[in-house]
Amino acid sequence: MRSSVKWIWRLTLVSVACLGMGLYGLSGCHEQTSISREVPSTETRRTAPLEELPGEDYADVIPRAVTPETENSMEEDPQVTEPEDTDWMLMLVNPQNTLPEDFSVTLKELENHQAVDARIYEDLQTMLEDARKEGLSPVVRSSYRTQADQEILYANKVSRLRKQGYSREEAEAEAARWVAFPGTSEHQLGLAVDIVAESYRALEEDQENTPEQKWLMANAHRYGFILRYPEEKSQITGIGYEPWHYRYVGREAAGEIYEKGICLEEYLERS
Ligand SMILES: [Zn+2]
Repeated sequence: MRSSVKWIWRLTLVSVACLGMGLYGLSGCHEQTSISREVPSTETRRTAPLEELPGEDYADVIPRAVTPETENSMEEDPQVTEPEDTDWMLMLVNPQNTLPEDFSVTLKELENHQAVDARIYEDLQTMLEDARKEGLSPVVRSSYRTQADQEILYANKVSRLRKQGYSREEAEAEAARWVAFPGTSEHQLGLAVDIVAESYRALEEDQENTPEQKWLMANAHRYGFILRYPEEKSQITGIGYEPWHYRYVGREAAGEIYEKGICLEEYLERS
């Protein structure tokens, strides 16, 4: 009996042990189940913070919000607009640079039958009006000329020099120093004006002493004009001193030419 009791006792112990292991195993499975249950809950938490994180959403939104603003601001930015065409106002016409054959210009008439390129009309009028406000009396004596006008002027100058004893060759060379050879005059551009004092209309060097010329020489650049043929630049321009001939080049170029004491040829060479 004792041995059978022992056997039953052992069997009981083994059963209890197995039951315990089984419970442990169930407990372990339960734990695993509980972990697996936490996975979706963790995923849920991961999703939630993403939705709640303003930084990440914001970062995602920034490019979409900024891009259209940037495009709009680029459209409105004056720096991206077409630069002003200055070629016409800086066209070089001198003894070495003849007017292009296909050259044409839209003119606007001044008083006393003068005319200039319509694009410089306003600046010219403002300059003359401001001079008059200073009590001065500037008069535009010459402005736009056709090829035919220039041919007559040049022929007349040669004729006068011939009468003074110059040979034809000498007369033509000397005439070109004072009246541009046809096709090489800035007056044919419509950008040049000869301005004199009402009280002294002669195209002579003394013109520089009139209050009108003194004012123009000091202020013309503010309106886009330059004294085109200064005395000290004759070697470069090929034209004698003309303290009455003003050429429109625009305010920017005129300002630099005035400040640096250079002529148009020098300005164009360096820019
Ligand atoms: Zn002139």
